Amino acid sequence: MAKIKGAVAVDAERCKGCGVCVVACPSGVLAPNVLVNGKGYNYSYMENPDDCTGCANCAMVCPDSCITVYRRKFETEAK
Ligand code: SF4
Ligand code: SF4
Repeated sequence: MAKIKGAVAVDAERCKGCGVCVVACPSGVLAPNVLVNGKGYNYSYMENPDDCTGCANCAMVCPDSCITVYRRKFETEAK
C-alpha cells in the first residue's frame, strides 16, 4: 500500500513568526522555535515532523510564502 508523507522547509530568515502556519496545520506539526532569526523573530519549525501529511495548508496561509512543501510516496509493507 502506498502512503504519502510530507515535509516542509521554512525559510527561517524570511519568517516573521506570526504563527499563522502553526494554527493552520491540522496535524500539529509546526511550532515557534525558541531560537530567533536575524530579525529577532521566533521562526516556525517542524516540531513533530513525523505527523506531516504534505497537505500544504501551512504554505497556503503563510503571508510571506516562506514555506515549501515536499511530498513523498512510499510503499508500506503488507501485514
Ligand atoms: S504540509 Fe500540512 S501537515 Fe505538513 S506542516 Fe504543513 S499544514 Fe502541517
Ligand atoms: S505563516 Fe509564514 S511568516 Fe508566519 S510563522 Fe509561519 S512561516 Fe513564519
